[in-house]
Amino acid sequence: MKSEKRIQKVVDLLINSKYALVLTGAGISTDSGIPDFRSPGSGLWEKVDPMEVFSSFAFQRNPRRFYEEGLKMLSHFSAAKPNISHLLLAKLEEKSLLNLIITQNIDGLHQKAGSQNVIELHGNLREGTCLGCGRKYSMETILEKIKDEIPPLCHMCGGIIKPDLILFGDMLPEREYNLAQEACLRCDLMLVMGSSLIVAPVDRLPATAVSGGAKLIILNAERTIYDRQAEVVINGSLSQISESIDIL
Ligand code: NAD
Repeated sequence: MKSEKRIQKVVDLLINSKYALVLTGAGISTDSGIPDFRSPGSGLWEKVDPMEVFSSFAFQRNPRRFYEEGLKMLSHFSAAKPNISHLLLAKLEEKSLLNLIITQNIDGLHQKAGSQNVIELHGNLREGTCLGCGRKYSMETILEKIKDEIPPLCHMCGGIIKPDLILFGDMLPEREYNLAQEACLRCDLMLVMGSSLIVAPVDRLPATAVSGGAKLIILNAERTIYDRQAEVVINGSLSQISESIDIL
């Protein structure tokens, strides 16, 4: 199928769906200047061993390293701006053509673009939690605290404060994951944008949607294991694809 025809098919499926959701991954934010994990040449994993810095085991063993190296690597996330793909999804929601975004991203760019219904499966960089008493701290407070002490400690119980990120080895937030699964069973259309679909357990969500009868669209730079089950696959730059989705 020619690429214009595939774009038109995406538009038709969106217009005709009753409950559409999008599953986004790090690839939707690379055009906002945030590298993904695995893209050759630019992925974060070429710069750091994830298990040494971004695992719950590493955090427990050496929280100082997480704050000094890991958080520093993520510091530019908060300055990033939404790109055309984030804005497209916000517009689709506004026009009632999109019901929900399920994201693996921690950058908050969907909310910055104006999307309201967003499930964040891997946490966020807005807040942190004391591992001792569960008290919540804003990221501003955490960044202020680490000027004086690393790791930052809870002023109530002295426990270590951890940003609300899901690290390797952490459980996914149960409530969010259950809501995501229910939505996947309920939807009649799932778009995947910018995900390699290899990170568990999110890699199972497209199968859940398809088993419930949903149609699948995959928009990604490279192939995924779900391509054969998809109604439409477009391999290319998400910004270019989003620009050509003229639906609004
Ligand atoms: P991933 O790195 O495994 O896959 C990203 C996919 O996006 C790849 O298949 C890549 O080819 C594609 N891609 C990259 N740039 C693209 C572009 N401009 N246009 C089209 N496709 C593009 O990411 P994932 O599937 O999200 O899973 C890995 C983990 O990455 C998640 O746990 C997530 O929390 C974490 N992560 C998030 C951010 C973020 O918040 N922006 C950044 C890095 C990693």
